[in-house]
Amino acid sequence: MRLSDCSVLELGRLLRGRELSAAELTDYYLARIEKLDPAVRAYISVLADEARVKAREADNALAGGGGGALTGIPTALKDNICLAGAATTCASKMLAGFRPPYSASVAEKLLAAGAVVLGKLNMDEFAMGSTTEYSAFFPTRNPWDTDRVPGGSSGGAAAAVAAGTAPYAIGSDTGGSIRQPASFCGVVGMKPTYGAVSRYGLIAFASSLDQIGPLTRTVADNALVLEAIAGHDPKDSTSVPGERPNYSAGLQDGARGLRIGLPKEFFTAGLAPEVEKVVRDSARRLESLGAETGECSLPHMDYAIAAYYLIAPAECGSNLARYDGTRYGLRAPGADIIEMFQASRSAGFGPEVKRRVMLGAYALSSGYYDAYYLRAQKTRTLIREDYERVFADYDLILSPTAPAAAYRLGEMSDPLTMYMGDIYTIPVNLAGLPAVSLPAGLTEDGLPVGVQLIGRHFEEALLYRAAFALEQSVAFAARPALTEVD
Ligand code: GLN
Repeated sequence: MRLSDCSVLELGRLLRGRELSAAELTDYYLARIEKLDPAVRAYISVLADEARVKAREADNALAGGGGGALTGIPTALKDNICLAGAATTCASKMLAGFRPPYSASVAEKLLAAGAVVLGKLNMDEFAMGSTTEYSAFFPTRNPWDTDRVPGGSSGGAAAAVAAGTAPYAIGSDTGGSIRQPASFCGVVGMKPTYGAVSRYGLIAFASSLDQIGPLTRTVADNALVLEAIAGHDPKDSTSVPGERPNYSAGLQDGARGLRIGLPKEFFTAGLAPEVEKVVRDSARRLESLGAETGECSLPHMDYAIAAYYLIAPAECGSNLARYDGTRYGLRAPGADIIEMFQASRSAGFGPEVKRRVMLGAYALSSGYYDAYYLRAQKTRTLIREDYERVFADYDLILSPTAPAAAYRLGEMSDPLTMYMGDIYTIPVNLAGLPAVSLPAGLTEDGLPVGVQLIGRHFEEALLYRAAFALEQSVAFAARPALTEVD
């Protein structure tokens, strides 16, 4: 077996058993990045020197019998997560030259756990998009077929894990940006409950929706990484106080007795038949493992995309107001300060970010606020209540993650069509719920298809339990052809 096929758990065992050193493992991954990343382009920056220093520190800790589950294991961060001293771009020209003086709490936690950060990963600019084609630098390619997109906005994170150029990665999800690329790239992606993981140092897109989460090869790895990054953080006022459970504890408990609902609104025109088949197969597998499945209803789903595309742009308009050329990033010259603002924002932001900022400004403007923003917020409440009703009868919801497998590059040129692709993931963010996408089949073209499990607030452990049972049953073993190098 290739080292790049090893799970985080397996790598941890090899490192702690001294069969492999962190320095060797880091060099192995840096060499793979050099070989494979020119075709995939998951990385915006590679931090080879810093990674080698961290690996030596990890080896010292391991030599002394110390170190935990993640010590010495490489990882990579989506480029909207601040890492002190390292260029953090959000895949935008706007942040040219920006090196944050502090690290995100999630990065701090990983570094304290002995993680080796290999680099920063490509994304749609400021996390707005579903393909990484809105990166201001270059699109990332799907390792399964380099003519296709890896999904987005955490496309670099999903592609790196799928290509075996990072054992695991950290992404962010505002409307599906962890789960949809996970589905497109055949990896496991978790969007935790809103407030489970600190957002401190995550460059904000839409603060009431953003959450950080792990992308991994296996469900067990995902639980392990979430354990390392979750928890209360006084630096994030929306981080929920109290202890987080042990997410791995119940993994082996099986699916027996779980009640799983399939929302009837999600199985309509617009869902690719081969994706529907994978979801229905997954339901049958869970049934054969002793779960009960049934049809449930989420009657307000038709309004979710409209509500999200008012709330997210409204919040992004306000969060992105700080990029005016004054304090950091790009500054374009202007005759006076207003012209400097205008020139900097015009040159610094790409087309999708500009579209969102304008939509947000419109939705919040006087006279339109009640008609758009307020109604979107009311709709959000109705959507949350839909889930509460379902969760009175069911423990979990099973649904597609995305309506189709990975698109071809250039195929999503119409923004509205792109927005419609978020139909199964966006409502989960509006309700603040946790949801995981895991690979459950392949299309006829050999592209991976993910399914999504959605749980009650803070029931990530139950999600992992069901996902683990399904993962064992599916036994998804396919790998992109290009990963077969050493
Ligand atoms: N595709 C969605 C959007 O463009 C979701 C993005 C995200 O989750 N960051 O807003």
